[in-house]
Amino acid sequence: MSTTAMTAAVPADEQLLLNLLNTTPVIDGRELDELGDLASARRWLAANGLEKSESEWRGLLELRPILQAIVRGEQSPRALAPFLEGVGYSPRATPEGLDWALHAPEGRITAAKAVLAWDALRISSPGRLRACANTECQLFLIDRSKPNSAKWCSMAVCGNRMKARRHYHRAGETAEA
Ligand SMILES: [Zn+2]
Repeated sequence: MSTTAMTAAVPADEQLLLNLLNTTPVIDGRELDELGDLASARRWLAANGLEKSESEWRGLLELRPILQAIVRGEQSPRALAPFLEGVGYSPRATPEGLDWALHAPEGRITAAKAVLAWDALRISSPGRLRACANTECQLFLIDRSKPNSAKWCSMAVCGNRMKARRHYHRAGETAEA
């Protein structure tokens, strides 16, 4: 059997990847978990157009901390190996051409999609998926700006908050002087 280099993720899965990484936001200093229980997870899966099964939820709970650590540069992508077991693409002839179907073991389809999207992004847009520069924020961003210089998950939230903080510190220094 011979192999050839390919990336197999479709653009929609980039959003799935980012949404998954961002399911543990910190709001008012408290970490929330959008996948914290099965009912919340079913809502999240449905909102992302995914199968709302308990096994898919469990697969994502296993993958998420690993993927978050890899994007933060704290873990090697080798840790993704268990999520690739039994994952593959099969072509199917259709009246128009070929359809590629992703297959994975029970409960691992969504996790496989996220892993493939992570790798496709790594190749197509190196360095553009990263953690928000606000250390109190746990969100991630995909920087699509030309200079690749975006720091915040959102200018409206973290960008303004960090600017306001710097302004506050400067004002404080001036007042003490
Ligand atoms: Zn942020």
